[in-house]
This record gives sequence, C-alpha cells and structure tokens, in this order.
Amino acid sequence: MLAPPGGGKGLHSGRLSQATGVAHVSSGEHLRAEIGRGTSLGRRVASCMARGDLVLDDLMFEILTPVVVAAARDTGGFILDGFPRTVPQALRTAALGVELGLVGDAAVYLTAPSQVLIDRMLARGRREGRADDTPEVIGHRIEVFAQVTEPLVDYYASRQILVTVDADRPPEEVQADIRAQLAARGVPATRAASGPRRFRPASG
Ligand code: ADP
Repeated sequence: MLAPPGGGKGLHSGRLSQATGVAHVSSGEHLRAEIGRGTSLGRRVASCMARGDLVLDDLMFEILTPVVVAAARDTGGFILDGFPRTVPQALRTAALGVELGLVGDAAVYLTAPSQVLIDRMLARGRREGRADDTPEVIGHRIEVFAQVTEPLVDYYASRQILVTVDADRPPEEVQADIRAQLAARGVPATRAASGPRRFRPASG
C-alpha cells in the first residue's frame, strides 16, 4: 500500500487485511511500538520519526524482517503498509520475498490532493496526538514522500503491478475500488477468493 502521508494506507490496509485474512504489516505502527517499549533500537528511531525523516534502512529491516517472515508463515502473505518506502527498500523487500517464495501481487497507490492530506493529518494530530502530525513536520513528510517515495510509483508501473486509486472519496468507496481493481487483476481481495494458501515455506 503506497500513499503520501495522510493518504489512508493504514485504514485501507487494515480493511483489506480483515477481508482477506492476510496479515497487515504497518511499518509506522511497529516503529511506534518499538519506541513505546523503550528499547535502544526504539531510541535510535525516535528522533528521525519526530522530525519526519526516514529511518535508516538497516534499522527498518532489523525491525520488520521478523514480522514479515512471521506474517508469511502464519497468513500466507502480507499487506505492507508504509514499507517499502524507497526504491532501495523495494529491491531489498523483493529479495526477501524471493527467500519466502512470495512475489508482490499489486502495489496499490492511494492519491489525494495535498491540502486534503494536510487537513486529515492535522485532524488526526488533534484527535490522537501523534508527535509527527504537527504543521511543520507534516510539510516535511510530504516533501520526503515526493523525493524518495514517489519514484516507487514508476518502479511498480514498470513491473506492471501498479493499481492507482483516488483516495479523496469516502472510505467505503475507496475500499470498494481497491478490491474491484485487485479482483480485475486476479488478485484475491476476499477470504473466499484467497482459496488455499499459496505460500510454500522452503523446507528446513
Ligand atoms: P505516514 O505515512 O503518515 O508518515 P507512517 O506511520 O507510515 O505514517 O510513518 C511515520 C514515520 O515512520 C515516517 O515519517 C518515518 O519516520 C518512519 N517510517 C515509516 N516507515 C518507514 C520506512 N519504510 N522507512 C523509513 N522510515 C519509515
């Protein structure tokens, strides 16, 4: 799930996960949990996140690789939310997928005008008090997205797995569009359509 900050990655990944039974892996949630646990890894990522900068790839993979491996083992796949976020991360994730016997079925790109994103994040900041939902940090996160994450749109388009969805609509419409576009590509978007697990763990 690929989207600018405030695009609705978390919401739509969660709903898709419920519909398919495939695990939802949110990079931001795992980072925030690591910070909450007060670990040394958590302390190293906290300042980056508070500034709206990306966390170093090695730290990201240290936190997320075990989660992704467990998700594949337990649910046959994963819906990645907020990750990969750069082309190098995408290449590294694809290599991890090869090890797990999994390929990316689709990259869902949620789009919305900047002002809509900003308004949503400011509202969330007031509601949930997330440290990075402040006007200055929001602006920086949008810039970071444009610089290092948006190039992934072309990367996935060239791999012919890009699905673009207008996310400036009510959530139910957006989710229905995501599922319809996945179904049109033969990607299972409901539990019934998922059928038998396709994941085959490597022996040993
Ligand atoms: P949003 O997309 O709204 O910014 P996230 O919860 O996905 O929210 O990410 C919050 C912050 O966590 C990012 O600004 C960044 O600091 C860090 N982060 C999340 N995912 C990654 C990633 N894949 N690589 C590096 N940093 C990340």
